[in-house]
Amino acid sequence: MNKITIAIDGFSSTGKSTIAKQLANYLGYVYVDSGAMYRAVTLYAMREDFINDNSFNVEGLVSRLEEVAISFLFNETLGFAEVYLNGENVEASIRTLEVSSFVSKVAAVTEVRKKLVSIQKQLGKDKGVVMDGRDIGTVVFPDAELKLFMTASAQTRAERRYLELLERGDKVVYENVLKNVQERDYLDSTRKDSPLVKAEDAIEIDNSHLSLKEQFDKVLNIVNKVLEDK
Ligand code: C5P
Repeated sequence: MNKITIAIDGFSSTGKSTIAKQLANYLGYVYVDSGAMYRAVTLYAMREDFINDNSFNVEGLVSRLEEVAISFLFNETLGFAEVYLNGENVEASIRTLEVSSFVSKVAAVTEVRKKLVSIQKQLGKDKGVVMDGRDIGTVVFPDAELKLFMTASAQTRAERRYLELLERGDKVVYENVLKNVQERDYLDSTRKDSPLVKAEDAIEIDNSHLSLKEQFDKVLNIVNKVLEDK
């Protein structure tokens, strides 16, 4: 059967990666977490002190972008590809609230987007890919056969992210997680370059009141229809 491209966009913590991983496993497709790439560049910027609570040296970061290598390596045990920054597995280090607090600023830099979008297009060139992010259906794969746009209330999303962080052992305060979710929503949807918008031909899934199984069944129905029509 011909493989298709599935683009999943939406606000922070809408469960994009959960549904994307499920679909990729079910279909035998490659899953690419584009947010992990922006997070990895952000980690680099933090380590090099290009970004901190008081300042963001955009020119400094842009001048060193050439030496930032982002790649993925499939982890058999986890069942998905982990992200690497200059050969180092940074999958755990990029999920902190600190990285989350800077990532939308880094992701607004055009040169960063250009670099990452070109890697993303390359990763999806043979189809058979499920990629999640903010601009996948609009910029990275505007011709994707299936585009999903995930939404849920900010409170639902913050609760999910809060529990995730607690589970990882991060001592976070719920209000700060909610604030971060709201701030990223704002920055991601108002930036000049590739803002988060629902593609005209995307199907919206509000999962505020859907269990994981209900969501998967719903999406699988849609996927199967697209595959049948091909
Ligand atoms: O998906 P995740 O929440 O890990 O993404 C982290 C951040 O990376 C987003 O808040 C957004 O600022 C940025 N991002 C983006 N474009 C993408 C994926 C993520 O700007 N395609």
